[in-house]
Amino acid sequence: MTDFTYAVDADGVATITWDVVGKSMNVMSKAGFDDLSAMVDQGLADPGVKGIIITSGKKDFAGGMDLNVIANMRAGGAQSIFDGVMGMHAVMRKIERAGMDPKTLKGGKPIVAALPGTALGIGLEVPLCCHRIIAADNPKAKIGLPEIMVGIFPGAGGTTRLTRKMGAMMAAPYLLEGKLSDPKGAKAGGLIDEVVAPEELLPRAKAWILAATDADLVKPWDAKGYKMPGGTPYHPAGFMTFVGASAMVLGKTMGVYPAAKALLGAVYEGAMVPFDLALKIEARHFTSVLMNPSSTAMIRSLFINKEALEKGANRPQAPDQAVQKLGVIGAGMMGAGIAYVSANAGIDVVLIDATQESADKGKAYSEGLLDKGMQRKKVTAEKKAEVLARITATTDYAALAGCDLIVEAVFEDPKVKADVTAKVEAAVGPDCIFATNTSTLPISGLAKASTRPEQFIGIHFFSPVDKMMLVEIIRGKQTGDRAVAKALDFVRQIRKTPIVVNDARFFYANRCIIPYLNEGMRMVAEGVDPVLVENAAKLVGMPLGPLQLVDETSIDLGVKIAKATKAAMGDAYPDSAVDEVLFWMADQGRMGKKANAGFYAYDAAGKREGMWDGLAKHFPEAGEQPSLTEVQHRLLMAQVLEAVRALEDGVLTDIREGDVGAILGWGFAPWSGGPFSWLDIIGAPRAVEICEGLTARYGTRFTVPDLLRDMAAKGDSFYRKDNAKAA
Ligand code: NAD
Repeated sequence: MTDFTYAVDADGVATITWDVVGKSMNVMSKAGFDDLSAMVDQGLADPGVKGIIITSGKKDFAGGMDLNVIANMRAGGAQSIFDGVMGMHAVMRKIERAGMDPKTLKGGKPIVAALPGTALGIGLEVPLCCHRIIAADNPKAKIGLPEIMVGIFPGAGGTTRLTRKMGAMMAAPYLLEGKLSDPKGAKAGGLIDEVVAPEELLPRAKAWILAATDADLVKPWDAKGYKMPGGTPYHPAGFMTFVGASAMVLGKTMGVYPAAKALLGAVYEGAMVPFDLALKIEARHFTSVLMNPSSTAMIRSLFINKEALEKGANRPQAPDQAVQKLGVIGAGMMGAGIAYVSANAGIDVVLIDATQESADKGKAYSEGLLDKGMQRKKVTAEKKAEVLARITATTDYAALAGCDLIVEAVFEDPKVKADVTAKVEAAVGPDCIFATNTSTLPISGLAKASTRPEQFIGIHFFSPVDKMMLVEIIRGKQTGDRAVAKALDFVRQIRKTPIVVNDARFFYANRCIIPYLNEGMRMVAEGVDPVLVENAAKLVGMPLGPLQLVDETSIDLGVKIAKATKAAMGDAYPDSAVDEVLFWMADQGRMGKKANAGFYAYDAAGKREGMWDGLAKHFPEAGEQPSLTEVQHRLLMAQVLEAVRALEDGVLTDIREGDVGAILGWGFAPWSGGPFSWLDIIGAPRAVEICEGLTARYGTRFTVPDLLRDMAAKGDSFYRKDNAKAA
């Protein structure tokens, strides 16, 4: 069985059709690439063939390289990666030169890429070496090179060809940000050559082949006198581009993403040498990225395992539980967002609040988001009307009749929640599943208000609901499998990523993020420069420093959580040093961003300025400051050890969920692949050594968990095959 088929028509035009059997989207494998190469040889060698169309038998062209293959390439070592990539370059160069005389550049056969739909990664790199790229006018299609999003960069010539085609400046959004365009946008941006009506795709490709001249086949970079658009680094304009791009990349990535640096290196160094040497440089940089454990970890968490979780890797056996009618109780910030994402996914929603005014306000939130979408031309008037028509805003619980799932998002108060649970259960049928969106209250406790605890579950969204991709599903002590399956099927319907965890204080994400915030505040109390704390976090890849994050989530929420935790833990409460800072900030009325006053100072428009100067007055800087690394170790270990403890306690049952949840839930250093991947990158013995040092200097919160100590002793790792559920 082969991924490509080959046929020649009566006019001598060969068509190579990509159609991977058993997959809805074409992805490139090593064997597939060999097939393509052999078919191109066949076409070039056959005197009866005038030209070749490369197209797809599916509605899309291709989704890219099979990332499972890339993730495993590292095992072969650097030389084998480099040789493999150079082999691909040779094939793609063969397509590009298409049998032409190397001196006169004449006598080649035209090769056209005909793209019916989406063309990503290698699915665009192959077209980029063809002589013309024609796409069907399919507004749903996405065209681009998204490799950077999973920790690699376009390494099959895409980086070199795109830079030479459009110049470094114009190529930057596609290469550095993984920008994707629809066919018309791709044509306007210079990625592809032509957009035609879908039924015209193959006829137009054939017509182009039959009319093509020798000159049509010569790539600009192979023609005499080629100059890179926008200039090489030697050219003043080119120099500015490269200086700007370096600064931009470093500003955005803080230098922690190896792929972004390597990509820039490939573009910069490649721009100064002939094309074939540039491909070799690209291959070297690509090899170095694949050899970096960060790329393996990112691909594993952000692509392979994320997708596995979305497809239901941990879904209990149960018939399809797709939600038909959803009830959302509480139309505040969270309820309004949950109603919006659900209605947007085609689910009918009843949105209930205590007053009609509040319920209407919750529905108006959807209208606001849809209006924004219309301004950006992402949403049509019909779509807006359709989504809004799916939301019924009311105070009447009788409207919940026929709901098969309820998500409760009322105040974080067990009494209010218990009251709502009873009211809902009186209004819905016996099979309805009840989910609470609580962020802090144990599910098993809230389930006591239910007459059907096996149908009671936690579905914890993150704010803002429409933007945050993670949903934490919490199994209470009595929660049954059907409730878990229902929650997972719902999360799949709204196209988010689920993790399933067991019930414990703060579940998983909040359990790990709170120690991060606390560690930042502890350091303030100790006299560590708050600027050092914030920058150390960002330089290790955290999207926000801990103090900024406290400002964003508000000081009063922090105080509320601290008080509740203290009440629950009594004498065992370990965070008095944190409260010294937190409660003092509250006393000063510095409630965070929403109050325009927090750890940071804000201008009248709410724009963050520097650190608030009152902080340094009350918590003066200590004479001796810790090193950057020491601060980073404290901030990372505070989160990572909590993740390990969650695994030890059985709150987490799958490290894949721990890693994916950390990146999507609170932005844990994505370059690392997540807390468990990070521990594997540094190795358990080194992690133990760091923690022992931190324990000696700062106390028992850094005590090495037994699991980690055992791992260090045995030379084991989290992702060793038999430890991880991942394949
Ligand atoms: P909110 O105050 O914005 O909204 C709560 C809504 O519930 C209000 O509109 C209120 O009128 C309504 N309400 C209160 N009692 C009610 C009742 N008896 N019947 C019907 N409606 C009632 O709060 P929120 O931020 O949307 O939080 C809601 C829930 O989600 C809480 O449990 C919270 O812990 C949780 N949560 C919040 C966040 C967050 O970032 N805000 C994140 C995850 C989870």
